[in-house]
Amino acid sequence: MSDAFDVAVVGGGIIGCACAYELATRGASVVLLEREQIAAGASGRNHGLLLTPLDAALLPMAGRSSATYEDVVRDAPLRVHLDPSPIGFLIVAEDDVEREAAREEAETAAACGVPIEAVDGSALRELEPALAPELSSGWLLQDGRRVDPAALTVGLALLARERGADVRTGETVRSVIRGSGRVTGVVTDRGPILASTVVLAAGPWTATLTRPLGVDLPIAGARGWLVHLGANGAGPSRLIGRAGWHLVSERETPAFLTARTWAAEGSRPFVGGLVQPNPDGTVLAGGSRAWAVTEEPEDPEVPRKILSSAVRMFPGLAEARPLAAWWGVRPVTPDDRPIVARVADGLIVASGHGSQGVILGGGTGELVAALAQGEPPPFDPAPFAPDRFARTMVE
Ligand SMILES: Cc1cc2nc3c(=O)[nH]c(=O)nc-3n(C[C@H](O)[C@H](O)[C@H](O)COP(=O)(O)OP(=O)(O)OC[C@H]3O[C@@H](n4cnc5c(N)ncnc54)[C@H](O)[C@@H]3O)c2cc1C
Repeated sequence: MSDAFDVAVVGGGIIGCACAYELATRGASVVLLEREQIAAGASGRNHGLLLTPLDAALLPMAGRSSATYEDVVRDAPLRVHLDPSPIGFLIVAEDDVEREAAREEAETAAACGVPIEAVDGSALRELEPALAPELSSGWLLQDGRRVDPAALTVGLALLARERGADVRTGETVRSVIRGSGRVTGVVTDRGPILASTVVLAAGPWTATLTRPLGVDLPIAGARGWLVHLGANGAGPSRLIGRAGWHLVSERETPAFLTARTWAAEGSRPFVGGLVQPNPDGTVLAGGSRAWAVTEEPEDPEVPRKILSSAVRMFPGLAEARPLAAWWGVRPVTPDDRPIVARVADGLIVASGHGSQGVILGGGTGELVAALAQGEPPPFDPAPFAPDRFARTMVE
């Protein structure tokens, strides 16, 4: 005999846990299925930055996410660090190309409601005395709250469980069951689970579960590395990004890897500079982006390149002790917006959040819960519909 639920959520990352949390809070019977542990994927391996999206279509989803996270910080049975207010994000530039990229990013942020201010010369040194002298100009954005992403994801899962969800780890979903024209559940290693609605939130692995159903979604994986440095007092006091990382990296990485590019050049890692002070005084250095085709890292040299970029920005970090380095795989779409929509009768997809899964997770959970329960969406769902991609086949 198989179990039966209102909703089966596949994936225990920030997106799946936010969906289970919202659905359980609204009284649905929910099972959450995670093949490893909660937050095993990118959700437990990222910067944990809540930055204002540079895309106006994402702002309502981001706003709902922040409100949800305040509730999780208050109610979760574990401590979840969330900065009460922005710590500030300083975009720094060395040459004219970077200056132009910094201006473009700052103005885009301003158009999305972020207060900005140009800072040069001595004002820049006063803000960040340890910054390399070549980085002579910048923009200060009143933005950037840090959250502990793994604790947040676990907090969502624990609250979902407190509200009745059946949270199962170590249980891999092998396929989606479709009978008489609609999806009716999933099959895991332990057998079938029936559900009126299946929510696929399996991160970069989501499309492998929809493809056998004839639903080909453009969701791929982009690996990113982080390097953790010990406290030595030579880092920044706010988030510092080298100009261009947010905008240029997206442009320099083609929307999707082709077999020709992969064969000729491999995954072409792009390494930028993002240096983040942690609340405990240690420093997190990023970032990188490379198409992830294999489970194993394609270029194990990336953490060293990230370190050298961080040291170029903050020379005193050369003496800091590397504590650890790790990578996560972001689920990406060609336009950097997630797919959150019903893609077949009984089947909802919530994935492709790229570099903004934490920023957008809570709002995604609300939209999914509304879709599953036939309620009005909390904000315009049109930007998240898969029919924006011509090559997607939605049945
Ligand atoms: C270096 C780095 C820095 C980042 N920084 C930020 C940041 O500052 N702010 C931000 O908002 N975002 C950031 N991101 C992006 C963010 O981490 C992702 O967008 C987000 O974690 C995606 O969440 P997810 O739940 O979709 O996927 P995942 O976290 O990958 O979760 C998917 C889960 O599904 C499980 N799963 C897969 N297949 C199956 C199956 N068949 N059966 C059962 N379970 C399955 C996996 O084990 C996994 O746990 C960063 C990412 C990286 C790599």
